[in-house]
Amino acid sequence: MKDTGEDRRPARPGRRNIIRGLGLAAGGLLAGGAGFATEQAWRREDPPTPASAASVDSWQPPDRQVDVIWAVNTRRRLVALTFDDGPMERWTPQALDALDEAKAPATFFMVGSRLARNARLVEGRLDRHEVGNHTWKHDDLSKLSLAHARRSIHRTHRTIEEVTGRAPTLLRPPWGRLGGTTLHVAAEHGYDLVLWSLLVQDRRLGHEPAEMVAAVVDNARPGTIVLGHDVGAASRETAVAQLPAMIRGLRGRGFEFVTVSQLRRAAI
Ligand SMILES: [Zn+2]
Repeated sequence: MKDTGEDRRPARPGRRNIIRGLGLAAGGLLAGGAGFATEQAWRREDPPTPASAASVDSWQPPDRQVDVIWAVNTRRRLVALTFDDGPMERWTPQALDALDEAKAPATFFMVGSRLARNARLVEGRLDRHEVGNHTWKHDDLSKLSLAHARRSIHRTHRTIEEVTGRAPTLLRPPWGRLGGTTLHVAAEHGYDLVLWSLLVQDRRLGHEPAEMVAAVVDNARPGTIVLGHDVGAASRETAVAQLPAMIRGLRGRGFEFVTVSQLRRAAI
């Protein structure tokens, strides 16, 4: 359940791979064994997407549309703070304390298995907040079959409902990775997908806390969705440790805080 890369974008096939693909076709036709060697190298570097995730041919299309939201177009100075990967003993209570102190709502995208284990950390503390689905074990949804994606998302859905008394309506795919199966299961659950438009940078990448706070405060726009983590390596703690400073800075620029669903209701 290691989570090291919310800030990484999924790799896209680059020109080099396309060229290698052509080389493979030519090698296969012209040189036999040489083509095989090229194919091995190509596969090693760029494993194919499993057919289970890539193919949607045999499915009935869902009867509901799924929105994908990076930010919301609004004229009001509203920002949604979001925290991923909890709840865990380390940092989730600290994040909730800071939000309580500031009376600021946030949206927590929770990992179902962690919520099942650590429900006591959040019980009775989520009234002003929203909880979204972040899969059962921080799963890479771009690689799951329809059946597996369904289990991961549905189990988490049920756990959130049991612990919070509210059914979630938002899904954030871990690392922002998704496949056709993700869209299908999201439609079945009546979910929309929430990504982010502003990331609280990881200290590992050389950003000092004060710089990171300034980057969030200066770059927020009406409708921004900020992504931080309430779980992870020490280098990631900034999002929680600096939360009071971020809230003060953003309020100083006239921003108010809302959950993601509240932000959507303020859309133009
Ligand atoms: Zn995550």
